[in-house]
Amino acid sequence: MPSYNIWTIGCQMNRAESERLEALLENHGYTGVAKAEDAGLVIVNSCVVRQSAENRVINKLMRLRYLKRSHPGLKIALTGCFVTSDIAQMRKKYPFVDYFFTAGSSPTFTDLVDVESYSLPRPAAISSGLTIIQGCDNFCSYCIVPYRRGREQSRQVADIESEARYLVEGGARELVLLGQNVDSYGHDLPDKADLASLLEHINCIDGLYRIRFLTNHPKDMSERLINSMASLDKVCQQLNLPVQSGDDDILQRMKRGYNLAHYRKLLEGLRSGVPGVAITTDIIVGFPGESREQFDNTLKFLEEARFDAVHVAAYSPRPQTLASLVYTDDIDPSEKDRRRKLIEEAQSRISAEINSGLVGQTVEVLVEGRKKGKWYGRSRTDKLVFFEHPGNWLGRQVPVKIEHSSPWFLKGSI
Ligand code: SF4
Repeated sequence: MPSYNIWTIGCQMNRAESERLEALLENHGYTGVAKAEDAGLVIVNSCVVRQSAENRVINKLMRLRYLKRSHPGLKIALTGCFVTSDIAQMRKKYPFVDYFFTAGSSPTFTDLVDVESYSLPRPAAISSGLTIIQGCDNFCSYCIVPYRRGREQSRQVADIESEARYLVEGGARELVLLGQNVDSYGHDLPDKADLASLLEHINCIDGLYRIRFLTNHPKDMSERLINSMASLDKVCQQLNLPVQSGDDDILQRMKRGYNLAHYRKLLEGLRSGVPGVAITTDIIVGFPGESREQFDNTLKFLEEARFDAVHVAAYSPRPQTLASLVYTDDIDPSEKDRRRKLIEEAQSRISAEINSGLVGQTVEVLVEGRKKGKWYGRSRTDKLVFFEHPGNWLGRQVPVKIEHSSPWFLKGSI
């Protein structure tokens, strides 16, 4: 029986893509195996958004090259943002890789399986990702995504809706609509659909309990979208809104297209329009020229904004990007690391404070699975919740009374 192994790194879009690939292969009689050594086909779904991710991809490829020497029949496929549009050049550089295909495009291993059915068949996890827009037109000065995933390309509403129905029929109870910038969804479609109108369509699907979407861009997020979040019953009260820096000069050099005053207004609008909304953010530390004072402004902004969670990364220059061409990467790695840790420390205190406020409250949890004898799932505000119970709660929404909190998860009982 043919076997496969998929190695995935990077964003939720990559994870959703890997789920599709898995389904495609399973539908063609392939069996998933845990180790590359046991597989006939290994797929590497890559990310290059940071240098550290790219290094891991290269390491993985080198290990596979070595493995292929002792397993000459092994087929290797490479996809994700590591793959550039110059496939001929990639073939020269990585001759041991059998198939290349760019992020979001159809697989090229057509000699192994019929990829016609690629866009639809896939297994449905309780919480399933669903890509609605590929690429990005924003060209933030540090970001490689527009060069690797290309310009924005929205999927048709009807295609998204039919895939959403398919996933719900297959057992999904929560859909996470995905895109590098979901707020610009639809601007390239003839009927000028937008994210708010797409949410209205998806909200009508019977059997679906919850809808989330990511990632948002503060420059493009509309009041109409905030109103939809407030009025559509399946849309969760949770949002990732990357601020990236708490300093206007850095934001300008990042070419983010907004300043802190604009971001503050958005926070205010969200918090008053969608009561109880949980907001998470992304931050980059050590952008070229970021002074101590500018970094302190980001720390101060964390205290002011009180996000529910923060994903922090140290800046690394990425090829082709404006920042890598015009700025010197002048912050020492140890200083970047110090700044990253300071953000993490401040945020874990803030998250602990926010989460401790939930102790004693009852939250609705959509149960996604079981780990170490405990059920786990997420609240509507995306808090990870564990509870113990002998019943079978998979895929069900249950009220859980919170008894214990930490910065990263909550524990309670039914
Ligand atoms: S919005 Fe900016 S950071 Fe996000 S994917 Fe587009 S270019 Fe990259």
